[in-house]
Formats: sequence, C-alpha cells, structure tokens
Amino acid sequence: MPLVPMRILLDHAAENNYGLAAFNVNNMEQIQAIMEAAKETDSPVIVQASRGARSYTNDAYLRHLMLAAVELNPKLPIAMHQDHGNSPETCLSAIKQGFTSVMMDGSLSADGKTPSTYEYNVQVTRQVVRAAHAKGVSVEGEIGTLGGIEDGHGAGLSSAEAAKHITDPQQAQQFVADTGVDALAVAIGTSHGAYKFTHKPTGDVLVMSVIEEIHRRLPNCHLVMHGSSSVPQELLEIIRRYGGQMKETYGVPVEEIRRGIQHGVRKVNVDTDCRLAITGAIRKTFAESPEEFDPRKYLTPAREAMKQVCLARMTAFGQAGNAGKIRIKTCKQMISFYKPKPKAKTRAKKVVKKVVKKVVKKLAAKRPAKKSARKSGRR
Ligand SMILES: [Zn+2]
Repeated sequence: MPLVPMRILLDHAAENNYGLAAFNVNNMEQIQAIMEAAKETDSPVIVQASRGARSYTNDAYLRHLMLAAVELNPKLPIAMHQDHGNSPETCLSAIKQGFTSVMMDGSLSADGKTPSTYEYNVQVTRQVVRAAHAKGVSVEGEIGTLGGIEDGHGAGLSSAEAAKHITDPQQAQQFVADTGVDALAVAIGTSHGAYKFTHKPTGDVLVMSVIEEIHRRLPNCHLVMHGSSSVPQELLEIIRRYGGQMKETYGVPVEEIRRGIQHGVRKVNVDTDCRLAITGAIRKTFAESPEEFDPRKYLTPAREAMKQVCLARMTAFGQAGNAGKIRIKTCKQMISFYKPKPKAKTRAKKVVKKVVKKVVKKLAAKRPAKKSARKSGRR
C-alpha cells in the first residue's frame, strides 16, 4: 500500500482507544529500527521529520528511504508527517515531497522562536488545512507553547515559563472550529529535548487535567502530546558509563502518557529516547572495542537499541496488534471526505429534482404503450 494519511490511523486509534508513537527520523537506521519494531508488533506507523531532518537528508534521501520502508512492509500502514512546519511554505513543500500529513505550528512565528498571536495562528493553519485537505493530506495544529528547543525550533521556554503557556481549553475548542485541523498539539507543561524536568514530574508541572478538559470539550478531536520522551534513567546511565556527560534529567513517565491516551491523546511524539538509545549503544561499542572502525559494527547495535525503545512504546501505547485491522484509505480517497458537504437545502432540492425526473421518465415510457393499445383496438 502507498503511504497513508495520518487521519486514518488516528481515527482507528480513537475508535479503539489507543495511542500512536510518532518517531522522528534522520537516517536509514532510524527508519529501519521503527519498521522492524512495527513488523514484530503489527503496529501502524507514524514516521515524522522536522525541518532539520529534511535539510539533513536533502528531502530526496528521506523520500526514497520511506518508499523503501513501504516496499519492504506492504502490510503495514505508514504515515509520513512533517513535524513543526514553521510556515505554510514548509508544509506545502512537504506535501510536494509526498508527506501524507503536515503540522502547521502557528503557535510560533515563522522564525520558529517567537510566540505568535491567536489570529496569526488561525490564519496560517487555516491556509494549510485548505491546501492539504484538497489533496487528502492530514493536518496537525498547535495551540499553547511548549518549553525547550528541538532542532532549532521552539521558544526556548524553561519549564517554569512553559507553565504560563499551557493551552487554554476554551481557546483550543475555538481554534479547532476556526481551522478544521485533524489533530491538535496541546501544551501541558512538557518540553522538547532531553532536559525536560529537573525532578520526576508531578501534577504541578505536568497538567494532565488540561488534557482531560480539552477532551471533554472536543471529544472528536485527536490530541497530540509533544516533548513526550520518557528519558529512561537506564539509557542515561549507559551514556554516562561509557564517557558521555548527561546532566540529571527526567522525562514524561509512560504511565502519564497512558493517562493522556485515556483522554483523547492519539499521537505521542518520541525523539529524545531514540537518540539516547542510539548514542548509548555507539558509546558502548567504542569503549568496549576501540579497534572497530567499520560503521556497521556500531550502527547495528545502535539500530537494535532504538528498535527496543520503539517496541516498548508501541506496546505501552496500545498500537501493537492494530496494523492489520485498519481499513486503509489513500490520500486521493480522502479528498472527498474533506469536501464540504452540500447544505440541507441543496440536498433537498437535489432529491426533488431526482423524483421529478423519475416520474417524467415513467410517464414518457407509458405513452407509446397506450398508443399501440389504441391501434390494436383493445379498448
Ligand atoms: Zn514538538
């Protein structure tokens, strides 16, 4: 099957109350790690690329690697998503490159740093929704501002500052009505990058109640948690043991994410955990076998370490076992789904027209029969 629109995967996740990990990629080994984990667990897949990933891979390498993933895994539905598009131009160029889903992050200005206004956010997001839906491509928007910076994108807010930019549920409801997005990223105190929290997050930094309130107001909107790596202490430990210098840091506990999934979170962005797993495995190989210089010797364990993270998240979020159950629609088939439905009045007019046409046709068919009856003298 071709790459599928993300909306199809999110709808199935919502109907069956599970979440989907969205893993960031930059190279072949990361894509392979995700696909191997998905194959082993029969999981639907969301692969996402930031602007940084697209320039790192020149788009073309990334596109062909994704096509390879599709070719080698014909039974797995795979969505290709632009992470944090900073402008409509970025999103449109992603669609041209074959992405089946885009995020327009209008919560920041086009510089990807300065928090923007609500009006600006609605304007750029609506523009992307119109263009993307015309091609059956899914759209994620963002309301509220996350902490931290990732791949040069982010307002760089500390977790204390991020707490002031938590999504307002009422505004979220208005935003979805104003833009028509398929999915909505919400800020609940999480941060991008490895340094999220200086202590294990509790209710005062991670405001899960906001997600619950947004879900109550928008039961049919797919919510997205960004900055949701769990930063496992054992992965940090491996890096430190083999010479790396990671300061004390904590991520979003998997059990908190699962709580979010119970309240409408359908997409969970995971990047840092995969990076940590890869780095730890490479450091370990270098430390234990300093004579190695064949990249395959350290990239193979790195790929395996990332695969283990993917396996764990796919299982914990509930997407495992669902790939084969999803009824697939292509982007082309999604175009009619997004087309504005005719208004009730127009629909009624159409029905009347149809009935009149039928009656006229019936009468016309009866007339020659009468004539011939007259001719034959049977009256
Ligand atoms: Zn993000």
